Amino acid sequence: MDTKIVNLQLLDEKEQDAVYEEAAGVIRKGGLVAFPTETVYGLGANALDEQAAARIYAAKGRPSDNPLIAHISREEQLEEIAAYIPEAARILMKNYWPGPLTMIFRKKDVVPRGTTGGLDTVAVRMPDHPVAKRLIDAAGVPIAAPSANISGKPSPTTAQRTAEDMDGKIEMILDGGPCRIGIESTIVDMTEEVPVILRPGFITFEMLEELLGAVRKDKALDAKEGQNFRPKAPGQKYRHYAPKAPMTLVEGDVENAAAKIRELTEVSVREGKKVGIICTDETISCYEQGIVKSMGSRARLESVAHNLYEILREFDEAGVEVIYSEAFPSDELGFAVMNRLVKAAGHKEIQV
Ligand code: AMP
Ligand code: MG
Repeated sequence: MDTKIVNLQLLDEKEQDAVYEEAAGVIRKGGLVAFPTETVYGLGANALDEQAAARIYAAKGRPSDNPLIAHISREEQLEEIAAYIPEAARILMKNYWPGPLTMIFRKKDVVPRGTTGGLDTVAVRMPDHPVAKRLIDAAGVPIAAPSANISGKPSPTTAQRTAEDMDGKIEMILDGGPCRIGIESTIVDMTEEVPVILRPGFITFEMLEELLGAVRKDKALDAKEGQNFRPKAPGQKYRHYAPKAPMTLVEGDVENAAAKIRELTEVSVREGKKVGIICTDETISCYEQGIVKSMGSRARLESVAHNLYEILREFDEAGVEVIYSEAFPSDELGFAVMNRLVKAAGHKEIQV
């Protein structure tokens, strides 16, 4: 299949209108369109069409028990697909929609189980990105859109990275420039008495707690015990966000961690291995060997979230054979960043 890649930034308003019409037509006919959101690039299909959802799973190579998030552009669309909307969800909608927050509700019958991984719940998000919003508006249906990467790889945050994984497999890619946030949405299960965070993201536990009073973190998110719990969100059981090279996360005091990474690098270099080091602006001068990349500043974790996946893909390209990464305190945005790093490392962690 020929994938049409359109850079919207180069088009005037009228030309853009035509592109949105074409892309919306693809979605309505059961096809696939990748598009930017503020979190990462999404691989979109009609969320109410089981066959279209099946094509998403095929393009990603994703197991079909891993549910998809339905993206909407207007609040009325939520009423069409969610059977019950609790008061707490209305509070979150008011504060964080449109935005990087996904909520899980009991589903209505119009949402096929082929979209929800066989579950009787549906995950819904209203993205805060002009391209996503216009595409959903034009399509007139909720759009199921998981991250537009091959299953298991880091999520794409640019159209170029999306094309690397999806060129030839889907009808269209809309290029709207790099994504602002860089990691996936926070997922909160609103079907429980006390809302439960299933996946941490840019909207933090602390932000949700402040609004709702009580919020829980899913047990599968516990850094130590996470591996032993049966996760509530099926997607959480799969290996995720992973670079090709084996990665080790070094946790502890910043200086000691940097010293440990230097020591590990020294050993790997002596073994003749090509080493990648993931560090921060504050520590980049600590390293002399290996390919060293800073994710951003420890004082501004948004910069770290923004660059994380791109750096993992750059290390794939560079063909490094082993990666050592610094770690972060697991509170506020650090909780989401560490969740991705731990998964990228396949739970391979060293404490110093
Ligand atoms: P992605 O679309 O790649 O950002 O990932 C979607 C993730 O959302 C899945 O892997 C699940 O973990 C989660 N999810 C989607 N729908 C549901 C649902 N109905 N119940 C629980 N988790 C869900
Ligand atoms: Mg994903």
